[in-house]
Amino acid sequence: MIKITTENYVAEARKAIKNQVLQKALEDLQQRFGPPTALSYQKLLEGPELRLIAQDIRMQAIENLDIILEKLAENIHQNGGHVFFAKDGQEAIEYALQIARKHNVKRIVKGKSMVTEEIGLNTALIDAGIDVTETDLGEYIIQLAGEHPSHIIAPAVHKTRNEIGKLFSEKLDIPFITDPPKLTQEARKALRKKFLAADMGTSGCNLACAETGHIAVVSNEGNIRMAATMPRVHLAFIGMERVVARLEDHDALVRLLCRGAAAQKMSTYVSYIGGPRSAGQVDGPQEFHLIILDNGRSRILADEEFREMLCCIRCAACLNVCPVYRKIGGHSYGSTYSGPVGAVVTPLLVGINQAKDLCLGETLCGACQDACPVNIDIPRMLLALRFKLAEGDSVWNVTPADRKEKAIYSVWSWMIRHRSVYDFFLRLAAFGQNILPQKEGMIRRLPPPMSGWTQSRDMKAIAKQSFMKRWKKL
Ligand code: SF4
Repeated sequence: MIKITTENYVAEARKAIKNQVLQKALEDLQQRFGPPTALSYQKLLEGPELRLIAQDIRMQAIENLDIILEKLAENIHQNGGHVFFAKDGQEAIEYALQIARKHNVKRIVKGKSMVTEEIGLNTALIDAGIDVTETDLGEYIIQLAGEHPSHIIAPAVHKTRNEIGKLFSEKLDIPFITDPPKLTQEARKALRKKFLAADMGTSGCNLACAETGHIAVVSNEGNIRMAATMPRVHLAFIGMERVVARLEDHDALVRLLCRGAAAQKMSTYVSYIGGPRSAGQVDGPQEFHLIILDNGRSRILADEEFREMLCCIRCAACLNVCPVYRKIGGHSYGSTYSGPVGAVVTPLLVGINQAKDLCLGETLCGACQDACPVNIDIPRMLLALRFKLAEGDSVWNVTPADRKEKAIYSVWSWMIRHRSVYDFFLRLAAFGQNILPQKEGMIRRLPPPMSGWTQSRDMKAIAKQSFMKRWKKL
């Protein structure tokens, strides 16, 4: 498991908002992907309604996960591959190390994988003395920089070309350049040597297919295909929810995944991998392993309120439209998953109290659900998490986050149900607000305990005459 720093969310968000370079990068990212993604759904043969069909496919898979996973494992075995069910990150890492030791692995090339980020695989492999190289360009950049991804599909979005130029010059021992195609060529040269020397390749998995025993990986760089086929051993990692029953289910999901991720009709590479090379084949690994990771997902599956979150195909479309992500970027979320998906998944995986600020920080505007290729109702689940934080929950071990806030809202709730008390309070507040600093009908600063409200915005002053009074008069 990587170091979780969700408790720093507010402080990190404040820092990010002041970072002008980051602000520009995030704005560019959302402009580049947000509107074109919505347009790409419109242009689908089936129209945006395909999202509802895809949601149905995912929900059916989630509700029959035990049977589907068993079928997947059975078919991978038949294809000559191996399957390991890992209860948590530790078990997954131990299995990976065991395979690496068995094959005397010294060098690994990695395809992009959020699940391996989630369990901190790189650190464990490097600690075991193995040379690990990320081969997705963005992942390679942040690995050289010693950082973590700040976006699911654009992990180095927070870095400028100048920063990357300096980084490559230092780490690859080349002259300082800032031209993106030239920088890409330099990365390509360095990575090519790593591919040729690697003993093992690892990858994630976008979707698995139980019926055929294959995993599907999509990329635009071709690196995953190389990591999965060139080395002797291929180790693939998959969150246990990323599987569907039939190959025909992949049709809708892969089309939507590519649109959600990058507004593309189809990624440049879509690879179906399901076992080692067979006799007579010249390409492919001699050994194939699929590690199916639980790591808290069973708990989500068991809860009807949150089960829908397992439909997520990690496309990042919700990050590309979220007004909160646009201001604070991915690192503020303090864990592998950022943006709206992170605001729900992270509390469920690491603890609702520990990651409470993530779900409290979202706006509930609903842009995430509109952008989601599988129509996940993220706002509903954000509210469900907030409810648990307000009331406490024994199943999820949640203690009420802020008793003072709960007390204030209980009084408020009682008051608005008693008209005369409410009217009296309004008259009192309208009179009391006169001593507060105001400008153009807006209150600039509220006193404690409401002062947080006006820390970064003004509040509309209470009207001199209430609506009810005006209504009666008119
Ligand atoms: S919640 Fe939806 S939009 Fe966000 S990453 Fe998951 S599938 Fe994509």
